[in-house]
Formats: sequence, structure tokens, C-alpha cells
Amino acid sequence: MKTSEIRQRFLDHFAQRGHTVVPSAGLIADDPNLLFVNAGMVPFKPYFLGQVTPPYPRATSVQKCVRTLDIDEVGKTTRHGSFFQMNGNFSFGDYFKDGAIRYAWELCTNSIADGGYGFDESKLWVSVYEEDDEAYRLWRDAVGVPESRIIRLGKGPNFWSMGVPGPCGPCSEILIDRGPEYGPEYVNTPGVEPDGDRYLEFWNLVFMQYERGPGQGKTDYPILGDLPAQNIDTGMGMERVAFLLQDVDNFYEVDEVRPILDKAAALSGKRYPAHEQHDGHPNPDDVRLRVVADHVRTALMLIGDGVTPGNEGRGYVLRRILRRAVRAMRLLGYEDPSFPELFPVARDAMSGSYPEVATDYARIAGYAYAEEDAFRATLRSGTTILDTAVAETKKSGGSQLSGSSAFQLHDTYGFPIDLTLEMAAEQGLTVDEEGFRRLMSEQRQRAKADAQSRKTGHADTSVLRSVLDRTGPTNFTGYLEVEREGR
Ligand code: ATP
Ligand code: MG
Ligand code: MG
Ligand code: MG
Repeated sequence: MKTSEIRQRFLDHFAQRGHTVVPSAGLIADDPNLLFVNAGMVPFKPYFLGQVTPPYPRATSVQKCVRTLDIDEVGKTTRHGSFFQMNGNFSFGDYFKDGAIRYAWELCTNSIADGGYGFDESKLWVSVYEEDDEAYRLWRDAVGVPESRIIRLGKGPNFWSMGVPGPCGPCSEILIDRGPEYGPEYVNTPGVEPDGDRYLEFWNLVFMQYERGPGQGKTDYPILGDLPAQNIDTGMGMERVAFLLQDVDNFYEVDEVRPILDKAAALSGKRYPAHEQHDGHPNPDDVRLRVVADHVRTALMLIGDGVTPGNEGRGYVLRRILRRAVRAMRLLGYEDPSFPELFPVARDAMSGSYPEVATDYARIAGYAYAEEDAFRATLRSGTTILDTAVAETKKSGGSQLSGSSAFQLHDTYGFPIDLTLEMAAEQGLTVDEEGFRRLMSEQRQRAKADAQSRKTGHADTSVLRSVLDRTGPTNFTGYLEVEREGR
């Protein structure tokens, strides 16, 4: 079943059950705490928080999402993309657990001829929050899931809040057992999550039931009482359902992603999948091809929604994604410009669902191709320097690249520190990051002094440079923290 059909069946299923179909919001979140929209509920937050009265009691959508937290998982698990689509149904003070559970179960198990996804019931598992007896009973009695496949889990996976005072509540996930090829068999054990690649979670139902007070972290806050109106927020990973229904191995092989992967494989002359494992890990070339396919698609969608490469915030995330794709192509042995080959394939894979990536393609390509050119120039000049420094370190018996080498690469060749770390690691070395940061801060001091003297009449562009340095790679994890809190 093509992704476009999975989408349509979802929307039809919920439209037939009284939901208003709402188009996807753009990826740039209208929310100071969030870099990108990372869940289907984000555009509906003001309704859930009670700030705005919803214009409908029930809604359904297919929302574009980007999760920076998952970037490092890409290609290594079977199921994480940096961009993906979350299909959702929402109730604003209307139906609650009973409706959410029945609607989801019907869509999963109704036959294909009846408009459902036709999943084999005997392979479906569900999880509930350990204290949520109501959800437990509904799964068991209303839809008939045997107790052996209802898992009680703790707050970490199965209790949800927005990171701020407001609604919170238990959640319940639907998983499917993909079989022994994907991991060890799981025996139902309260509090213990099964392996995520074998027991694939593809739908999360959130029951907004309580009101929480202020507090830190995911669970460290007081529950103030019941919400006056209970809400439903669900999220189904569309690509996850796609790889199940398309009978392919993973996220990167579904119809909207695979063509990019195939193009990358053709350009680099690699066979995919490579079959040989690597000490029990996925083959590194397979991982690289998946990274390329995922990242090119994500970049297409981000630029399409108005993000441009830059040195901070969203622009920096995009830049990092584009550069990782270029690097992966080089590691696959392809050194020519690859984006003019890969982006049109991504455009064609996505324009059925998002026609704007075709109509706006010239602009999108302009940013992407220019970024690749600039980064290739950076790599050309810096790689020799890096290789020399690595060779010298190894010759003198060391295992750590000096802070001054990393600093020189950054200062003179524009190598972000994460790139140096990654490339050094590929050659078996660590990097003296502390030394690097010391030199960076010394340089900042110098820049300040320069700025002082500039006030007295000396023009000096090093100030500009230091601003770039400061807002560059080093604060990447800061944004990740923001996102973690936001969801
Ligand atoms: P996982 O445990 O697999 O990381 P999650 O619990 O973080 O998933 P939720 O926040 O519950 O995911 O999001 C709802 C649904 O969105 C998930 O059930 C899954 O189907 C889908 N989803 C979440 N993250 C991704 C991703 N990075 N790529 C593809 N689909 C995703
Ligand atoms: Mg996750
Ligand atoms: Mg999960
Ligand atoms: Mg989940």
C-alpha cells in the first residue's frame, strides 16, 4: 500500500467518524520552545492548553515532523527518520479513552477491503501506563486483546506531559511483533519495554486526563487534579505503517524514501543492502545510504518550509543535516557534487503529497546546491590538514588530536568541531575538546579587545568571525535540550 493511500485511509477513517480534516502546519513551529514541529499535536497546543476555543470538537491531520533528537539514530535503527509524518486524531473535550481505543483498533484491524490496514490481530501488542486500569480494561474487554499482550509500563514511556504546567496523562501504545529476525522474543513483564525494532511501536494514544503543576524533567511535577475537559491526542508514524504494509525492512525503504537511497547507491556504485554485517552491527555503507536518503528528504522539506542554512538555530540544524549527507556520500566514495542528482529524486518522491516542493524547487535547489559547493570547498582545504595532523599524532604514539589542530581547522578552514570529532574518530582518534574550547575562548577575548580598539578607529573583521564562531556548532546540544523539554 502506497504512502499516499495509507494517508488517505487514515483521514477517511476519522472523517467518517466525525473528525474535521486539518492540513499539516509548516515545520517551523510557532512556539519559542521548539525548533521544529515534532508531533501532530503541536499546532493544536493552544486548544489543549485552553488558550483558544477549538473550532471543532474532533480533528484529524497528517503532520510533517522533524525530530532533531533522532538525527543520530537515523540509519542505525529500522524506524527513526529525522523527517517523518505523524497521522493523528484529536478530541477536544469530546470522546475519551473508549473512543480513541476503538477507533485506532478498527483502523488497524479492519480488512484492506473494508478501508483498514488489515494488520494481523495476533501480532499486535499494546502498552498501558501501569496505573491505568481503565485503559487496560478497554483493551481487554472492548476490543479483545489478550492479557498476555497488554504490557503495563512506567512513567518514562507511558506518561505524557508538555513540559509545562497544563494537561498531562497516561498514554497507550500499539506495537506489532515483526518476528524473530528483528530481535529477541519478549515475555510480558510489567515495567520492562520490549525491543523497539522487533516490537515496533507505530501508534501512541495520549489520554490528557490530569492537570500538572510546575516542575523539572519528564515526571518531576505535582498532579493538581482532573482536567475539566479530557482530551485525546494520538500519533501514528506513517512511514512505520508504510514499511509494515509495503513489506520492506525499514523506514528508509518505503516508497517516499527508497528512490533517494537507490540513486545514492547508483552514484556510489554500492549494492544495497550489502548483506554483510559488521560485528553484529548494520553494514556501515548501508547506514550511510540510509542517512543520505533520510537527510536529503529532510533538507528538501525544511528548505521548502522556509528554513535556510545558517549558523544558528534552525539554520544550523539544516546545515548540519546537509553536511552529513555530503560527508556520507564521500565516505561512500562519491566525491562529485551529489545534490543535483539526489534532490530531484527526493522532489519527485515527495511532490505527490506536497506539491509545493515541485513548484518551489528552483529556490530549494538553490540553497541546497550552494551549501554543498561551499562545504566541498571546506572539506577540500581542511581534509589534508586533518590527515596530516592525524598521521603526526599516530606517529608519536598518541591517540588524541591536539586542541590546537582542532582550533586551526576551525579557525582557518571553517571545520566545525563536530566534523573534526567525527573525522578523527573514523581514524581511531579522540580530540582534545577542552584544549579546543580554551583556544576558542582566548580568541573571543582577543576579539573583544579588538572591538575595543575598533571603537578607537581601527577596522577589524575578526569580530565578525568570532560572532560566527560563537553561534556555530558548539551550541547544538542546547537546542536538543529545548526540544526535549518541548515535547
Ligand atoms: P520511539 O520509541 O520508537 O522512538 P516515540 O515513542 O519517541 O517512538 P512518539 O513520541 O510516541 O514516538 O510519537 C508517536 C509516533 O510517531 C510513534 O509511535 C511512531 O510511530 C512515530 N515516530 C516517532 N518518532 C519517529 C521517527 N523519528 N521516525 C519515524 N516515526 C516516528
Ligand atoms: Mg523516540
Ligand atoms: Mg516510544
Ligand atoms: Mg511513543
